Order: sequence, then structure tokens, then C-alpha cells
Amino acid sequence: MKKLIVKLFVSIGITSIISVLIAQCFSNEQFWSVFWLSFIIQILVFYIINTWYYNYLINRVETVKTQRIKELNRNVIKVTCPCSEGYVQAVDYRFDVDENIVVCEKCNKKFKCKATVNTTLVTEPIYFDK
Ligand SMILES: [Zn+2]
Repeated sequence: MKKLIVKLFVSIGITSIISVLIAQCFSNEQFWSVFWLSFIIQILVFYIINTWYYNYLINRVETVKTQRIKELNRNVIKVTCPCSEGYVQAVDYRFDVDENIVVCEKCNKKFKCKATVNTTLVTEPIYFDK
């Protein structure tokens, strides 16, 4: 909180100094009107820049989050091409599409990958007390 108040006073001080420097370029009758006009324009410009920068950062964070989710959902598995070469290559398998069609890096033929889930009954060992 204390840091924020110090920052506010430093910001107002810098804005005032710049306004004084700009107002000194004009005649004495126009000093205060130019000073306040310069002061308000500086606040408006920095408000617009800060708002734009804040929105830019939020947009960037959302983009990085989306890319991270995409990377976490990747399933890289090794598959063997059904051709006579039997080439093994890593494939980015996707569960959200119906067909995963891959081009073999060796023979350049397309082949389809299909994941199957096997189920087995689990047996639990029985322990006897002595
Ligand atoms: Zn092949």
C-alpha cells in the first residue's frame, strides 16, 4: 500500500514537471491553461496505453494457456507402418478425431491408426489368517 502511494506521488510529480516544461514554451497568460491541458492529455494517453498493454498481456496469457492445454493433450506414440519396410515412427495420436491417417516417412504411403482398449477382470488374492 505504501509503495503504491509513493508510486502515485512520483507519477504525479513527473507528470507535473513535464507539464511545467511544456507550459514554459507558451506565454505567461497561457501558462496554467497549457499546464492543465498537458497534464490531462498525459493522463489520458497513459491511461489508453496502460489499458491497451493490460489487454495485450491478458490476451498473451490466454494464448499461452491454450497452447499449454494443446501440448498437454498430445499423445505421441510409436507405430509401425504396415508396409514391407516395417518402419517405426512417432505419431501424434488424437482421440478427438474419427480417423488418424499418417503418412509413412519411409515409403510415403498413408495408413490409418486405430487405438483399442482391452479390458480384463481383476482378481484379488485371498489371504488366510493362521
Ligand atoms: Zn511404410
